[in-house]
Amino acid sequence: MTTIRKSVLISGASIAGLTMAYWMNHYGYDVTVVEIGREPRRGGSPIDVRGESLYCAKRMGILDAIRQAKLPTKGLKFMNSRNEVQGIMLVEEIGALSPDDTEIRRDDLVNILYAKVKHLVSYKFGNRITQLDQNEANVKVTFKDGTTGIYDFVIGADGIHSGVRKLAFGPEEQFTHFLNFYFSVFTVDGSLGEQNYAHMYNTPDTMATIYFYNIDSADALLAFRASHKVIFDRYNVQEQKQIVIDAFAGIGWKVPRLLDALQQADNFYLDQGCQIKMPAWTRGRVALIGDAGYAPAFPTGMGSTLAMHGATILADAIAENENYETAFKVYEESFRPVVDQLQATVYDGMSFVLPDTAEKIAARNSLGK
Ligand SMILES: Cc1cc2nc3c(=O)[nH]c(=O)nc-3n(C[C@H](O)[C@H](O)[C@H](O)COP(=O)(O)OP(=O)(O)OC[C@H]3O[C@@H](n4cnc5c(N)ncnc54)[C@H](O)[C@@H]3O)c2cc1C
Repeated sequence: MTTIRKSVLISGASIAGLTMAYWMNHYGYDVTVVEIGREPRRGGSPIDVRGESLYCAKRMGILDAIRQAKLPTKGLKFMNSRNEVQGIMLVEEIGALSPDDTEIRRDDLVNILYAKVKHLVSYKFGNRITQLDQNEANVKVTFKDGTTGIYDFVIGADGIHSGVRKLAFGPEEQFTHFLNFYFSVFTVDGSLGEQNYAHMYNTPDTMATIYFYNIDSADALLAFRASHKVIFDRYNVQEQKQIVIDAFAGIGWKVPRLLDALQQADNFYLDQGCQIKMPAWTRGRVALIGDAGYAPAFPTGMGSTLAMHGATILADAIAENENYETAFKVYEESFRPVVDQLQATVYDGMSFVLPDTAEKIAARNSLGK
């Protein structure tokens, strides 16, 4: 007698989605990943793999690869407009949870995860879900290209602007908590930075940071405060670049050179600083993981950690419980305290990266004296 493998569709081929794809394949599911991009989306400033996600990585057999990609970061220097160092925080003082915590480029983490699952699961790149119809037995999915499929579960791992969340739970606005800032990341010439250090320059409304490691290019992170939401087309990169250029007009230090680089960048990314807060991450046979369900915002430094950890907890719960409703309940109940605790740290993180007065900037810089 042949048994039919259970199937899962995962929307989003990034940190959460690729982690989930690994585990669901591991637990015997037939896995399909649908990703709006033509390949896993690259770009972004360095991210941290910390705490529980290191244990998840070990179980997945990718911890050594992550360790090898660990950035040789020595610390963070606070700069003034004349490019003079105002303070230095060494990496061990920046709030790592443990000495094992690993800072790596976002691209490297995506590449390591993708290499792990590339040949194990099916992909639908350049596509997305347009309709979800679920009943007691399964979920019928319609894709943008007009094809359809039937799956036991659908997992939304498609980031802050999750399409699955919108279709299964409702409009984005009810779950988004805007933190009154925007951030953009892109690659710049390595000569703008200093090897193995991040340089940060603040004004009361802006922050510019250059991360430079032992490679030809550096990553720039530009963040700015906004009293209200800026409306833009998420697919119009030129319009987004202009928003950042306008926000940083007249700012000194290396910002004019960063803005020149931004104009040329082909991996530019802009988004609002926000947290996603939801009363439930599951509905019927649909579940959300990572930023789609509980984005903590970049000042917490925990987006990737939560994404890997949450995906692993959900997959384990599905594998350990015959009844999926029980599994989803285990996921909701065991992971909620972790998410609540981490999301609460965002305001400390914001005061550190985006102090909003000259006095607070000076006080933050003096931490590194
Ligand atoms: C290009 C990029 C740059 C980033 N840079 C930073 C950074 O510098 N600092 C930081 O702290 N965080 C950054 N993030 C967010 C960070 O990756 C996440 O906070 C964290 O890693 C959790 O990952 P995730 O997999 O839940 O979400 P994400 O990494 O946001 O991945 C979501 C994935 O879903 C895809 N997707 C989106 N909509 C759909 C759809 N409708 N259908 C199918 N697929 C869809 C996206 O293309 C992406 O591959 C960035 C994210 C992206 C996409």
